[in-house]
Amino acid sequence: MDLGIAGKRALVTASSKGLGLGCARALAEAGVDLVMNARGAEALAASAEAIRSDFGVSVTEVPADITTEDGRVRVLDAADDPDILVTNAGGPPPGMWTDWERDDFIAALDANMLTPIALMKACLPAMMARGWGRVVNITSQSVKSPIPALGLSNSARAGLTGYVAGTARQVAQKGVTINNLLPGIHDTDRAASLDAGVAKQKDIPVEDARADREATIPARRYGTAAEFGATCAFLCSGQAGFIVGQNVLLDGGAVNATL
Ligand code: NAP
Repeated sequence: MDLGIAGKRALVTASSKGLGLGCARALAEAGVDLVMNARGAEALAASAEAIRSDFGVSVTEVPADITTEDGRVRVLDAADDPDILVTNAGGPPPGMWTDWERDDFIAALDANMLTPIALMKACLPAMMARGWGRVVNITSQSVKSPIPALGLSNSARAGLTGYVAGTARQVAQKGVTINNLLPGIHDTDRAASLDAGVAKQKDIPVEDARADREATIPARRYGTAAEFGATCAFLCSGQAGFIVGQNVLLDGGAVNATL
């Protein structure tokens, strides 16, 4: 399918690895020029170069911490009012409800709620003025089905979801859509480090920790960044203009709910 977005420009934050990289690659395959970002310059440069060579699009790399004001200014300067915005950042650490103090919540809110909101506030006006724009926020299945050990994530992403629900309906009349993509367990460094944490806690091999988690997913496997990216690219397509304010779950059936 021609997604109708060749030649458009996208900003994909936190995109040197994992789900952000999956989104960047799928947009590049659709002919979209990219601004990519991550803190580590080396992995970012390698991923950007692979995209240039695989898809022939233009890629600008901005090494920066997207959760800081300074980092966002530099990334937004390079992106220069993109047509497409995909927001992403690292997830908060796991723990127990008794572990988290005010500063932990502020850090999680900064990374997973206030950063995507700041990016949207910066990018939406030009999209609305042009009469076309696409925003996809990478959140988590924890928005629909809480993961007890990820209470910081559950809290911050619920806040972002509420913001998007209202804002998406305020900008849709200008041809701009905002939707959230909710990953279940995907095969990325983040998933591997959560598996390692469970293995350590239960004193079992990491392969067993992974097998135990796979067994909880009806598809009996982790998702891939490529599958995730393809869904993101579709939400950014010309054809997806009537999809507004939705929370699209990609979880292999893990959330056991009818709707
Ligand atoms: P990942 O494989 O660890 O990749 C994270 C990417 O984000 C890397 O490119 C990393 O590069 C970059 N990054 C992290 N913090 C950043 C920051 N402050 N500023 C700029 N770039 C940053 O993670 P993932 O699995 O793709 O997860 C992406 C998001 O989806 C996370 O919020 C995660 O919690 C959420 N999620 C993932 C899963 C899953 O199963 N994978 C499930 C539910 C939700 P640098 O480290 O070099 O900055």
